[in-house]
Amino acid sequence: MLYKMGEKKIYVRKTFLGNCRRLLEKIVPQTTDLYKWLYLNAVRFSSKKRNERKKYLSFKYHTVDGCNLNCSGCSTFSPLVDNSFVDAKSFENDIKHITKLGYVEKMELIGGEALLHPNILELIEISRKYIEKGELSLVTNGILLLKKDEKFWESCRKNKIGIKITPYPIKLDIDKILEFAEKYDVNLGYYYGGSKIHFCKYPLNMDGRGDMNKNFNRCDSSCCATLRDGKMYICCRTYSVKFFNEYYGQEFKVLEKDYKDIYAVKDADELLDFMCKATPFCRYCDLDKSKFGIPWGITKKEIGEWI
Ligand code: SF4
Ligand code: SF4
Repeated sequence: MLYKMGEKKIYVRKTFLGNCRRLLEKIVPQTTDLYKWLYLNAVRFSSKKRNERKKYLSFKYHTVDGCNLNCSGCSTFSPLVDNSFVDAKSFENDIKHITKLGYVEKMELIGGEALLHPNILELIEISRKYIEKGELSLVTNGILLLKKDEKFWESCRKNKIGIKITPYPIKLDIDKILEFAEKYDVNLGYYYGGSKIHFCKYPLNMDGRGDMNKNFNRCDSSCCATLRDGKMYICCRTYSVKFFNEYYGQEFKVLEKDYKDIYAVKDADELLDFMCKATPFCRYCDLDKSKFGIPWGITKKEIGEWI
């Protein structure tokens, strides 16, 4: 059964951009220049607020590099990766350290597909052990949710981990998932305000001559700080581009200014200052050539899906 956004007791976080997306999707076809113009302006209009320096730490932890869905144009290049996972010990060191730096208000366990992690229960337990009060959630495409046993649901309940499903147009038994969520008293939500029937593409531009600040202010990924193996990036693309480089023999450069080593910063303020600004990697993102209304589909691993 295909499911619709906002159906039943599934929670959708209300954000300005999410609301805009839902509204625009109803009134303007995504393939038109008008949609692109309106959406990019909505992103620009909200960028000041979205990119304002935060008081507390809020980020995604990239737990798994690969995925079991392999969408065309995937923003984390997951279809190009032979699966790899964060090591549980390294994850624990990172979470322990970052919570010493400052208060973590929110963390999302994400991928790729986070449920592919062989020790996902351990990651959940570690997360709540150190992030005692902040909001924790696990982001998934939902495919493996019904294969998870009682221990998984019980751990989500005990550790107050919400589950957020990205609404791809795939068959999911959402009634059954909801039944489990209700049975175990786990908060179930959608990850994305809008439908994923269509994808958008922010092409990578190999000449890297873009204006990093202009791109950052028109990018809806600009508030998506991503942590992995001790390094904080302003978005997942900067972390994951190495998979694109490896697969296609490209050389998009990630410089030292593109991330912060969480073990080298003096405090959370240094991280928070970094997380709200463009980094040199933003020069590669060709927002002028962004394309909307690309029908969702499975990747053919053609380079044109990303450039
Ligand atoms: S489900 Fe998400 S992470 Fe997986 S391939 Fe699709 S876009 Fe990428
Ligand atoms: S590198 Fe910058 S412009 Fe590109 S996706 Fe990330 S935040 Fe957006």
